[in-house]
Amino acid sequence: MDNKEKETIKQAILSKIRDLEEKVESLTELSKPVTPDNAIGRLTRMEAINSRSINEASLSASRQTLNNLKKALGLIDDPDFGYCLHCEEPIPYKRLMIMPETSLCVACAEKINSSLT
Ligand SMILES: [Zn+2]
Repeated sequence: MDNKEKETIKQAILSKIRDLEEKVESLTELSKPVTPDNAIGRLTRMEAINSRSINEASLSASRQTLNNLKKALGLIDDPDFGYCLHCEEPIPYKRLMIMPETSLCVACAEKINSSLT
């Protein structure tokens, strides 16, 4: 990976972090406890609670990705950045652009996913 590619990935990480921070903020708002006297229009309290738990799941996934992105940002100038943690082969640039938070190549990520299921 050359410096120009590294810089492009850095920008991609920064813009993903910005997007996710906004998302986390609005999901945090939506995940606030549902109070019984809340004016929630046509939604019943049960429905509000259901959608709240979906928001919470999405919130924790977003927070996780956000953490991984920040980790990736801290590691990007490290000589090991862009190499698979598992097999130590370089991770394709295209994959890093889509998922800069990944630390595994496609083959290893698939292997690990299939061993989990
Ligand atoms: Zn690998």
